[in-house]
Amino acid sequence: MNTSPPNPKSCQDESDPSALPAGDALAIIMDRASAVAGTEKVSLRCALGRVLARPLLSPSNVPAHRNSAMDGFALAGSDLPASGTAELRVIGTAYAGTPFKRAVGAGQCVRIMTGAKMPDGADTVVIQEKVEHMDDCIRIAADNKMGQNVREAGEDIAAGDSVLTAGTRIGPAQLGLLASLGLAELSVIRRPRVAFFSSGDELRSLGEALAEGEIYDSNRYTLHGMLSELGVNIIDMGVIRDEREAIRGALEEAAGQADVVLTTGGVSVGEADYLQGEASQLGEILFSKVAIKPGRPLTFGRIGNALFFGLPGNPVAVMVSFYQFVRPALKRLMGDVSDALPAFPVKSASKLRKAPNRTEVQRGVLVLDANREVTVRLSGRQGSGVLSSMSQGNCFILLPHDGGPLEPGDMVEVQPFDMLRW
Ligand code: AMP
Ligand code: MG
Repeated sequence: MNTSPPNPKSCQDESDPSALPAGDALAIIMDRASAVAGTEKVSLRCALGRVLARPLLSPSNVPAHRNSAMDGFALAGSDLPASGTAELRVIGTAYAGTPFKRAVGAGQCVRIMTGAKMPDGADTVVIQEKVEHMDDCIRIAADNKMGQNVREAGEDIAAGDSVLTAGTRIGPAQLGLLASLGLAELSVIRRPRVAFFSSGDELRSLGEALAEGEIYDSNRYTLHGMLSELGVNIIDMGVIRDEREAIRGALEEAAGQADVVLTTGGVSVGEADYLQGEASQLGEILFSKVAIKPGRPLTFGRIGNALFFGLPGNPVAVMVSFYQFVRPALKRLMGDVSDALPAFPVKSASKLRKAPNRTEVQRGVLVLDANREVTVRLSGRQGSGVLSSMSQGNCFILLPHDGGPLEPGDMVEVQPFDMLRW
């Protein structure tokens, strides 16, 4: 139980009835997000990171033939001695890739290597370590079982089996699986197009000199990274000045060519914050304030056929809003059925402040402590402009809307950054 005296700042109720709970905001977004139309055929290597458009049925058995699981001797199980020993004549050799072409008869066997096709007439392999080998015959004992050390055709995958469902994202294991079926190309969903720009008179692009009060635009770089890792097509429209006409023109251009439009900055209630007004003239705004920290001014709606996300300007708020709200929508557009945000509980090693009636997304470091227990601690300063807490952290710590502050030892939900990249 928390017995420490209330901290006036952390317990201050910053609730704003016009701000939507984060879960409601996500539900509105996901309600508007569906897989983009259009598929394309790509070669197997190019399918890495792409999403399957159709379920995939196996065209063949894997393995294709009944084969040996060990190096040894292939024989008919009926030749195994019930007691004592038996002698069998070695009539040839079967290699992986070079089968023995004749049948194995009674009293006969074939020297066989791992992966080699089982010759006709043989259903059992006795491993070479258990065999007494003399010139052209072997002696085997009674400690063997019919059918042992044999992999059946179709044991891994039978022809016609469903191998992968539609909406599966292709990773290295799937590439190997598809290669083992001999599939050189497959049908994937086209990549969604995402256009983005930064807004702010104070922003300069890299390579430009900074005048007093100006800063470098970092949001376009975090967005470039996050979008590229997710595997969408990106259209970087640069920096747009805080002028109504310029913003309107950029929004129109972006919505005309992309499935999703992302902007950063200019969505608060400052005097030069024109994004929301211009976007609502061109389309429809569904919400413009979320009960979340950081990221309260998040704005969402539609412009033409494109989804529109007006992200806040603060660099950490951009990353938090992207992963909590934009990523699930983009995954849905990509056709990826695993669009839910992964999260799991661990013990907190830090005291965590938390204001009521809002979701807080703090930055943490997951570590394996001396007792081999996974714990999480805060990663440095938590200000929404402080990117170092993101850069030094390896996870988000999710503090739910209705929860309060937490003490060391309490359980919290975390989202490792690496699980959000893919
Ligand atoms: P705004 O939402 O436009 O009021 O911006 C909030 C804060 O984020 C201000 O301190 C901005 O200077 C900063 N900011 C806005 N856009 C960017 C950007 N692209 N890169 C870095 N900082 C930004
Ligand atoms: Mg601004």
